[in-house]
Amino acid sequence: MELEKLNLPGVEERRPLVIAGPCSAETEDQVMDTARQLAKNGVKVFRAGIWKPRTKPGGFEGNGVTALPWMQKVKKETGMLTATEVATAKHAEEALKFGVDVLWIGARTTADPFAVQEIADTLKGVDVPVLIKNPVNPDLELWIGALQRLNNAGIKRLGAIHRGFSTYDKKLYRNLPQWHIPIELHRRFPDLPIICDPSHIAGRRDLISPLCQQAMDLQFDGLIIESHCDPDKAWSDAPQQLAPDVLSLVLNNLVIRNMNQTTESLAELRKQIDEIDMDLTEMLAKRMRVAKEIGIYKREHDMPILQTERYDEIIKKRMETGSAMSLDGEFTRKIFEAIHEESVRQQMRIME
Ligand code: PEP
Ligand code: MN
Repeated sequence: MELEKLNLPGVEERRPLVIAGPCSAETEDQVMDTARQLAKNGVKVFRAGIWKPRTKPGGFEGNGVTALPWMQKVKKETGMLTATEVATAKHAEEALKFGVDVLWIGARTTADPFAVQEIADTLKGVDVPVLIKNPVNPDLELWIGALQRLNNAGIKRLGAIHRGFSTYDKKLYRNLPQWHIPIELHRRFPDLPIICDPSHIAGRRDLISPLCQQAMDLQFDGLIIESHCDPDKAWSDAPQQLAPDVLSLVLNNLVIRNMNQTTESLAELRKQIDEIDMDLTEMLAKRMRVAKEIGIYKREHDMPILQTERYDEIIKKRMETGSAMSLDGEFTRKIFEAIHEESVRQQMRIME
């Protein structure tokens, strides 16, 4: 991909790029009240949803074109740049007509290559920064595909937004972070800025601050955070929006670590990690060899591969051992499930 810097204002040594504003532009008063407070707190890019693709009917789907003059007013009065979500070519045209400075493509739209292509076609020849949220499903290639469609249309000021991934059983987070996916995106495209959206990952206020810090520690380039003048009364995503003064607190508490200080001791620790990983790999290979021997035994004695009781016992015991060694139970379970799955696969090959 041929990329240029996003070149958005507000990036300082102690502050990443921050885009903040309400989930939805509800009324002119709500937009202006929120914008004035955010501007006073040093936010330079204002977000608000004009068109809101909602998962289910009946939710607030945005004011549409009616709300675009409010964005113009925000820009004129506060000097902040404005950003909004576009889900169709028509949205993109209208947003540009009203001088919106930054466009983003939402998670539901990124999952639809035809919609993304239509938006890309409309933006041909326009120099506007476009941010692309990850698709709702954890599919890195689909995310990259959307970025490429925009890039092929000549959009060079491109960025990615990590907003987490939908799951069937909601647990702590509204959308699972699955950090390895944006990390892999960064590895593949080191010049592509990646912005974290802790609001949609968290789904609730109290988780936003730690997520912001985590994003900074993982070297994300910026944050897009939902902020509303009266969060509890928000027409969409109320539980996850922060009042502007709370957002300020969160931003002021961020620790931006200096990543250039790769010290001697860090190199030493990394060497240790490399060695431990080597040991782990060897142990895994050894375990697979033994599993294959068991496979041969099972074949010769006409036994089934999967013995549920044994499986349950392995997972249970390993979790107990792990937690005795201060490992997270969920983590231990996942590791051994993966190991067991691979053992079964190896044994199936022997059976064939
Ligand atoms: C939003 O930013 O308000 C939004 C709808 O986000 P997402 O596309 O990530 O669900
Ligand atoms: Mn929202």
